[in-house]
Amino acid sequence: MKILTTDIAVIGGGVIGLATALQLRTEGRDVVLIEPNEPGSGASYGNAGTVADYAIIPVGTPSVLRNIASLLLNADSPLAIRKAALPTLFPWLARFAYESLPHRYRDNTRKLSDLLSEASPEWLELAAQIDASDLLSAKGCLYLYQTEQAFKSAQSDIALRRNVGIEQQLMSPDEVSRMEPNLPQIAGGGLFFPKAINFTDPGMVMKRLEQAAATAGVFFLKDAASTIVRQHRRVRVTARSTMVDAKTVVIAAGAHSGRLAAQVGDRVQLDTERGYHLEFDMDEMPVERPVCPTKHGFYFCPMAGRLRVAGTVELGGLSAPANQRRLDALLTNARRVFPYLGAPTRSWLGFRPSMPDSVPVIRPSKGGRDVILAFGHGHIGLTLAPRTARMVSRMIAAQMHEDMQS
Ligand SMILES: Cc1cc2nc3c(=O)[nH]c(=O)nc-3n(C[C@H](O)[C@H](O)[C@H](O)COP(=O)(O)OP(=O)(O)OC[C@H]3O[C@@H](n4cnc5c(N)ncnc54)[C@H](O)[C@@H]3O)c2cc1C
Repeated sequence: MKILTTDIAVIGGGVIGLATALQLRTEGRDVVLIEPNEPGSGASYGNAGTVADYAIIPVGTPSVLRNIASLLLNADSPLAIRKAALPTLFPWLARFAYESLPHRYRDNTRKLSDLLSEASPEWLELAAQIDASDLLSAKGCLYLYQTEQAFKSAQSDIALRRNVGIEQQLMSPDEVSRMEPNLPQIAGGGLFFPKAINFTDPGMVMKRLEQAAATAGVFFLKDAASTIVRQHRRVRVTARSTMVDAKTVVIAAGAHSGRLAAQVGDRVQLDTERGYHLEFDMDEMPVERPVCPTKHGFYFCPMAGRLRVAGTVELGGLSAPANQRRLDALLTNARRVFPYLGAPTRSWLGFRPSMPDSVPVIRPSKGGRDVILAFGHGHIGLTLAPRTARMVSRMIAAQMHEDMQS
């Protein structure tokens, strides 16, 4: 078996692994990125493309907790569960319920708002570095509330965002119609995030990240990491055909990271929130910016040559195939807004790497700083990639400094 020696081995080539590998290579470290598939072809490919610096509210909230049974057991709701997966998911769900309690929800909101505070400027900088500024749009993002009651219920979240300085504008139904004239009239209102930016083609952003990393000198190893073992002052990652000996290993394998983390002594409650998208090829977009009918839990995303309808949560693990019922529900709800939408051009299932508290795991392994965990970004992994890359690089710099002194 071939042996590669490097400073850093990054496991996983999604947006988190790619951004981290690029950051570390830019700082002069030798980096091997281990990825069995096309880099950026996992969850990072099919998302809604929003740099959602306003998304400080975790999935688990007191309101979700109150409605959890009806939400989970309705196969068409924005947060559903595959019943067959219930026994396996029970520990994650129990923790999710705990994290939805008022004191935990407030704490998780604070953690998310700290992480998200600089997401837009951080992405503007990274997009310029990887030559992807042309893929950014800056027309804000719009939430829709169908009924006055729904709009009222959103006020506490709105206040929380206001308290941490997120710019948001409440809009009357008429103002919503003026901003997005193709939307049907709604009774509730809108919430506009004027500073929000988004990508018009997340798959292309991944290609540019990959190109930038390769040009900078990151070595891509097309293989799957199977074991991680600490050795004297090195960590050995064994893949199918190669062993990689690194000073530091970064686990960034998205929803697949749990098993790898367990091998180095970190038992994390990572699972997946499965999400879907439908795409409709078209030249004229019905919306100018990402628009989220909040009741249905997805975004209409105007993208290059196509409208992408992306979102919803299905708890149900990594192995079951796409659930046609979820895709049908997404189509039905999309047609409630734009009844003329025909058959989708393509559909997609992706696996968000999700923690019960919605807070990503970005920290050294409990067994030692020679392994860094960088996964569990749930709904905001695209948004948090530049921040995660910098945090990991600071952790590695601190470790190297310590090593030099010891
Ligand atoms: C429908 C939907 C909409 C979304 N919308 C948004 C949004 O608008 N904004 C936002 O910020 N986020 C959004 N997200 C979330 C975001 O896409 C994810 O949080 C993010 O892509 C996670 O990135 P990642 O690199 O951790 O995982 P991934 O992109 O899944 O990458 C993990 C990689 O690890 C590789 N891997 C797995 N096992 C191994 C192994 N053993 N060895 C080596 N490599 C391995 C996989 O092949 C994969 O390429 C959305 C997600 C979904 C599903």
